[in-house]
Amino acid sequence: MFDSVIIGAGVAGCVAARELAEAGREVLVLEQREHIGGNCYDELDEHGILIHKYGPHIFHTREPRAYDYLSRFTKWYAFGHEVVANVHGTLIPVPFNLNTLHMVYDKEKADELEKKLIEAFGMESRVPILKLRQHSDPDIRQIADYVYENIFLHYTMKQWGQTPEEIDPAVTERVPVLISYDNRYFQEPYQGMPLDGYTPMFKAMLDHPGIRVMTGVDARTRLSFEGEQVFFDGKAFEGEVIYTGPLDELFDCRFGRLPYRSLHFDFEYLEQEDYQGHSVVNYTVSEDFTRITEFKYLTGQKAPGTTIVREYPFAYTGAKGEIPYYSIANEENQKLYERYKELLDKIPNVYVLGRLAEYKYYNIDAMVLRALMLTDRLKKS
Ligand code: FAD
Ligand code: UDP
Repeated sequence: MFDSVIIGAGVAGCVAARELAEAGREVLVLEQREHIGGNCYDELDEHGILIHKYGPHIFHTREPRAYDYLSRFTKWYAFGHEVVANVHGTLIPVPFNLNTLHMVYDKEKADELEKKLIEAFGMESRVPILKLRQHSDPDIRQIADYVYENIFLHYTMKQWGQTPEEIDPAVTERVPVLISYDNRYFQEPYQGMPLDGYTPMFKAMLDHPGIRVMTGVDARTRLSFEGEQVFFDGKAFEGEVIYTGPLDELFDCRFGRLPYRSLHFDFEYLEQEDYQGHSVVNYTVSEDFTRITEFKYLTGQKAPGTTIVREYPFAYTGAKGEIPYYSIANEENQKLYERYKELLDKIPNVYVLGRLAEYKYYNIDAMVLRALMLTDRLKKS
């Protein structure tokens, strides 16, 4: 028998499993996919290129605890991730920064605007696009309008089916205007890729005598949740259960489906050494896809050919094979989420953890930290 059951072998589930196992618990991890790693899963494709099956994942954090924790299970390929936007055929750095400013305006105008931006916000500051658009200075608003139209509007419409004003402002704040010459996408001190890939990192994490992993198992076939009780294979289970999947699906979507955005990934292998010269190119004014990732620029892999992936967003419907990637933060969806959470809160030994189960837009580092926070608490009980 097991002391703890963890549903889902993504970042959240793997970290939680390791922590509880190290505290002496016998842990069972149930994962419905055929592999561990959740959306961070990577593998060699048939041409030997290391790909991220569920979209490009770059680890970045300012939290030593998250970095140190993962560093127990991997070495790092350290690199500063850079993204460019394809704007009518010209590639410009994103987030929009002072280098971008000098690319889109002539020297005299760019110098003048740069001075104004530095005076208004200070060097190295991060300004949300929606805030920049409300600035009192018409010259600054002019830059904001350029950035809004050429970087945010069409990309956001593709990604979310809504305008930047209609979505939670925290989403566009992830990619602020940077008053800086730093071309990197993230400014945190720790960033890079697990040296041998994400999957080996998670494999090392789950490699503990106290952990048993079963893949290809939908936990709902083994566990049921009724009233204040969890049942495992039909018997009352008193150990702790950590659930990292979507909360509505645990209760047969009885109040209606929680809305998510999904993605279709279109992979292509090309028999050429280089396709776009960049790890990620965002298509911010054209195309139906949002971005193209060329994996060898993320991982540093050398190979004669190259694999790219295009991402096509769509509204998740719950149909077989679809994956809910992005929760959609708004008041109505939060209320619906809370109704499901109330059902779960009645069961004292079940805990929600993760981007799906908490219905939050978490990055990998946040997920590591939340898993550590929860297991710190559970280990004391
Ligand atoms: P998941 O990885 O979704 O894992 C949950 C697991 O639970 C899944 O494997 C699922 O199959 C399983 N599961 C669900 N229901 C059941 C069930 N009933 N029974 C059994 N198993 C079940 N973060 C970054 O820090 N950097 C990035 O560059 C980055 N890029 C991203 C790009 C994309 C396209 C996406 C979608 C996300 C990106 N993220 C990135 C976020 C990152 O993917 C998440 O923070 C992380 O994967 C969340 O881990 P998790 O364990 O909560 O969820
Ligand atoms: N965004 C945009 N244009 C870009 C990059 C980002 O409009 O070139 C907006 C878009 O709404 C996106 C959000 O900023 O969903 C957050 O971007 P991020 O790169 O963090 O998204 P993720 O990698 O999580 O998909």
